[in-house]
Amino acid sequence: MIQNPVSAAWRDRSSAPRGRLHAFASGRPRRPRRVAMLSVHTSPLHQPGTGDAGGMNVYIVELAKRLAALDIEVEVFTRYTSSDLPPTVELAPGVLVRHVTAGPYEGLVKEDLPAQLCAFTHGVLRTEAGHRPGHYDLVHSHYWLSGQVGWLAAQRWGVPLVHTMHTMAKVKNAALARCDTPEPAARVIGETQVVEAADRLIANTADEAGELAFHYGARPDQLAVVHPGVNLELFHPGGPGAQRIARAELGLPADAAVLLFAGRIQPLKAPEVLLQAAGVLLERRPELRERLVLAVVGGPSGNGLAKPQSLQKLAAELGLGDMVRFHPPVGQADLARWYRAATALVMPSHSESFGLVALEAQACATPVVAAAVGGLPVAVRDGETGTLVQGHDPADWATALEPYVVRPELVARLGAEAARHAAGFGWSAAAAATADVYAGTLVRPAGRVGPARRRLH
Ligand code: UDP
Repeated sequence: MIQNPVSAAWRDRSSAPRGRLHAFASGRPRRPRRVAMLSVHTSPLHQPGTGDAGGMNVYIVELAKRLAALDIEVEVFTRYTSSDLPPTVELAPGVLVRHVTAGPYEGLVKEDLPAQLCAFTHGVLRTEAGHRPGHYDLVHSHYWLSGQVGWLAAQRWGVPLVHTMHTMAKVKNAALARCDTPEPAARVIGETQVVEAADRLIANTADEAGELAFHYGARPDQLAVVHPGVNLELFHPGGPGAQRIARAELGLPADAAVLLFAGRIQPLKAPEVLLQAAGVLLERRPELRERLVLAVVGGPSGNGLAKPQSLQKLAAELGLGDMVRFHPPVGQADLARWYRAATALVMPSHSESFGLVALEAQACATPVVAAAVGGLPVAVRDGETGTLVQGHDPADWATALEPYVVRPELVARLGAEAARHAAGFGWSAAAAATADVYAGTLVRPAGRVGPARRRLH
């Protein structure tokens, strides 16, 4: 029988005091056997597209499933947000979601959670204490709140901490929409501590790695870039006539020009720019009123929760009421239908660490018109799979969108290229690259004794 070298290392050292040693192999990289994945503020079981659930939830679900397929078991710790939830849920073979009690189940918003980190950490440590030492070979935390928990858990268990930020306060604050509220200083401090504590920081793009270094002082040896993926089984162009079929299913006119916004409705995502740009476009070409449909799929989130009806009001003020379809968040299979029905996906975001919807739409052969921010220039190839727009001036967005509305041959060409481009971003590749990052934290030069990672005292 081939033994897992990581667990073997643990067994050999089972008499060692807990929290002092790493599950390491010497000389060669080894993959972990079981990872504790931390997602404090949002559950992988939540429907993305509203509230606190978005790309990070999708990221964790897809990554965990693909890691499990590589024989790396994943246990995702998240908060109990309802008394109906069971203590554990098997999300997929090899992927277990564990609910942890940290504060009342209902009524807490993300901003309340820093006060619950101690309770959450307690739940995580207590779970591990119910197993033999070495149950988890590595901690992978997502978002700074989880990073704070991971910092302690990894230290206590003597295992590496891998952290993915997803978003960063300093980056968000530097690109804030005019009406948005800045992220608090406490988050910046918390993020800085997590960067200091982590063995590896996984960034979505080289730009994000640069931001981690520039804003938070991350060292080059901590940084790894792993592009997220897209579920190519769910998101694909569909067969012949896919757009016509999707439109019929969604009750959209077959000959319309459908501009789609999909995701959380909040100032950061700037969905109002789509409506304002459509207003400008109609002033320039009033005949488009017959054909233009603006679809907004998603629900209010973050600072957008304060004014959940603001987009509807804006649509009415701009005289677009009859042209805009608002739809609550949908499951990903339904979202694929919206992408196929759309002429183009529109993403006027102020900041976007990657922008999964851009990849998903392209995988469905729908080009993307996106702000040239964050990961979007990686997700979208300007002029080949869509258009990148500088700034948020509605007139510029109207200019960028106009060709999509009036030139079907251009849409078809960009859409075909978009599908080819997105096909290069499978989650299996992302999981394999992540497993390599994990392995890099578990290796040490042959002959050396002691933890592979920098320890905090
Ligand atoms: N999403 C969804 N249903 C919706 C709208 C969005 O499942 O109605 C998902 C979408 O498929 C994507 C994620 O939510 O995977 C949004 O991720 P993205 O990176 O675009 O934005 P984030 O929420 O991370 O800011």
